[in-house]
Amino acid sequence: MSLLEVSQLKVSYPTRDGVFDVVRDLSFELDEADSLGIAGESGSGKSQTALAIMGLLPANAQVGGSIRLDGQELIGESERVLDRLRGKSLAMVFQDPMSALNPYMTVGRQIGEVLELHQGMSANEAAKRSCELLQMTGIDEPGRRSKAYPHQFSGGQRQRILIAMALACGPRLLIADEPTTALDVTVQKKILELLRSLCKETGTALILISHDLAVLSGMCRNLMIMYGGREMERGPSQRVLLQPTHPYTAALLRTLEDLHGGAGALAVIPGEPPDLRNPPGGCPFHPRCSEVLPHCSKEIPRTRPVRRIGDKQSHWVACHLEQEQ
Ligand code: SF4
Repeated sequence: MSLLEVSQLKVSYPTRDGVFDVVRDLSFELDEADSLGIAGESGSGKSQTALAIMGLLPANAQVGGSIRLDGQELIGESERVLDRLRGKSLAMVFQDPMSALNPYMTVGRQIGEVLELHQGMSANEAAKRSCELLQMTGIDEPGRRSKAYPHQFSGGQRQRILIAMALACGPRLLIADEPTTALDVTVQKKILELLRSLCKETGTALILISHDLAVLSGMCRNLMIMYGGREMERGPSQRVLLQPTHPYTAALLRTLEDLHGGAGALAVIPGEPPDLRNPPGGCPFHPRCSEVLPHCSKEIPRTRPVRRIGDKQSHWVACHLEQEQ
């Protein structure tokens, strides 16, 4: 059994203008201490998938399918149980550390609260452990700095504090959603390196969401490419990047090469991302696909393994083109 099993996940938002299906029929697994990078353009469903796993979708979201953590079904679970799991088994690092931290509470107290709530520590024990966690994430003089407020830290330091908070209770799975987007390139590298080494050290499984395929391939053993709320391709990172099978993955890689000679943020693929209220029939990428086949607009391609490597580490793709060969 994998640590995380997502099966036929569907997330929709009913609105006055119609129903937005933001995640559709998404299935994947993640093993203990493993890592998965999720990439795709804005609106591809990456963050909605992360929020669904965390049980943090807005109240008006409709969720279907199954999300199992260590065999325990999370969809439909009570808020009380999810609260207990968040922090203890599941943790998340958000894009904007300032909005994720309480500006009126010292950072030591914020980390301490998590430890008292989920680990049952006394205030003194939690204060001591908070300093250790700050030190572990590279904050100098942790005793003094733990008494400071979020605005007294730089953006990079605030992200380190969020990582300390997320790892405070030794979660089994950490989800980081664009954790370095707001930071400059040098700080980005240091934060990502910290994230990777701490997850490795603690045996925490990692889901990293980013627009940056180069970053994901360096950080994660596996990569999943999403488009229009669906999975397009998934497999070992190096294989997906070096031998992309799906035309959308290939298009993403071409935009990277065009912009940065092979490394950097996503540029634009010609055409518009799908209107989620009224998505195109068949393959969601067909209006932009340079290799479109006559039936691509009618039939949704099923996800199937294209290369099997060992038992589990398969390479999956959802494309009629692959099925024709
Ligand atoms: Fe292109 Fe058809 Fe494959 Fe979709 S299914 S990516 S439209 S070839």
